[in-house]
Amino acid sequence: MSHIIYPTTNLKATETMTMERGEGVYLYDNHGKRYIEGLAGLWCTSLGYGNQELIQAASDQMAKLSFSHMFGGKTHESAMQLSDKLSAMLPMDNAQIFFGNSGSDANDTHIKMLRYYFDAIGKPEKRKIIARERSYHGITVAAACLTGLDVNHKHFDLPIDALGILRTDAPHYLHGALAGESETQFVDRITNNLEQLILREGPETIAAFIAEPITGASGVIVPPEGYYEKVQAILNKYDIFFWADEVITGFGRTGNDFGSTTMDIKPDMMSLAKQLSSAYMPISAAAVRGDMYEAMIDQSAKAGVFGHGFTYSGHPVAAAVALKTLEIYERERLFEQAAVKGEYLQKRLQAYADHPLVGEVRGKGLIAAVELMADKAAKKPFADGRVGSYMLQACQNHGLIIRVVAGSAVAFCPPLIITEAQIDEMLEAFDKALADTMAWVT
Ligand code: PLP
Repeated sequence: MSHIIYPTTNLKATETMTMERGEGVYLYDNHGKRYIEGLAGLWCTSLGYGNQELIQAASDQMAKLSFSHMFGGKTHESAMQLSDKLSAMLPMDNAQIFFGNSGSDANDTHIKMLRYYFDAIGKPEKRKIIARERSYHGITVAAACLTGLDVNHKHFDLPIDALGILRTDAPHYLHGALAGESETQFVDRITNNLEQLILREGPETIAAFIAEPITGASGVIVPPEGYYEKVQAILNKYDIFFWADEVITGFGRTGNDFGSTTMDIKPDMMSLAKQLSSAYMPISAAAVRGDMYEAMIDQSAKAGVFGHGFTYSGHPVAAAVALKTLEIYERERLFEQAAVKGEYLQKRLQAYADHPLVGEVRGKGLIAAVELMADKAAKKPFADGRVGSYMLQACQNHGLIIRVVAGSAVAFCPPLIITEAQIDEMLEAFDKALADTMAWVT
């Protein structure tokens, strides 16, 4: 028995599964059964398990300076170096970084920095944020308001209206298109909806548009060609920031350094976490453009303290591990490798597109989803979560850890260090699980 309240879990129905150790792309449970890691933990363990360099970096930093806070200007080498490294890497102008502990808190921080910034430049009414339906931006109270999934709102009395979150279409052609609508028409319609929303609300009241370049928890939605180009043009027209939530897509996942690069987005703000430290330590980064930070400095000069910060902001051990993670990415050319292995994964998964249970195969780089459907011709998903749960269990029976998201989309997001032979091994288990599921539903 334990006294844990499990996160994101059916508290009544779910049986626990005890994991004991990890090595490379493999996990072992407490019965010694081996699993191949198909989801990099929760889209985060890019360098797999047991990486000795990361362990050493953590140990060295713990021995040297296990903790130092950053309030009131206290600082230390590892956080300073990490901020410089990130600023040089990010596809933003002179990015300035606020460190936190999770993707959710990075998003909360951004909401507050937006308000601070627009106050600073004398536009306090510019505070609403446009988020998309079916998006996932985390679960703290403010981040959950950005999230567009029912399960994260229901029974929590969310979203909070006063936060000013507006909702626009999810860019998923498969489920969002009207009968007979082409992809181009779909993009035109939903981007026109976005523009109409901005005009209805008043552009002078809208601060930012937040998007995961490619979504994760909502089923790995890759928007159609031309979508971001149109979105970006609308945002520029009305002076609204593009806020890229790269908590999953950051650091090589999509076959480039960032999802913004893959999808040709020029963000004004970015949220980063997960692969920033390969999940060896919790750390997040909320990055803003340099000129936004300049205005925040001026505001702080008038107001005094910038009243936002976590005990663990810039935690020295987390920062040292993140720095080493970035060094390994670069040295091992893991982003380039992710592009090559990603192409292999996507090609192999496309072979399932004709399977009678598969409605759509989608993804980019080393992130993908295979959506199972009750009626493929009618694009009808399975009505409840039972098929997804069955598939998840079948994968586990065959030694594969994945996640089923958005009802019945099987998500793949293996560690970036996975080899092509291990991708084959992963798909062999998937293949068997799909056959089991097919036999179960028919
Ligand atoms: N943003 C995105 C795109 C995510 O996928 C997640 C988590 O999966 C978050 C934010 C929240 O991150 P965390 O769980 O670290 O709070």
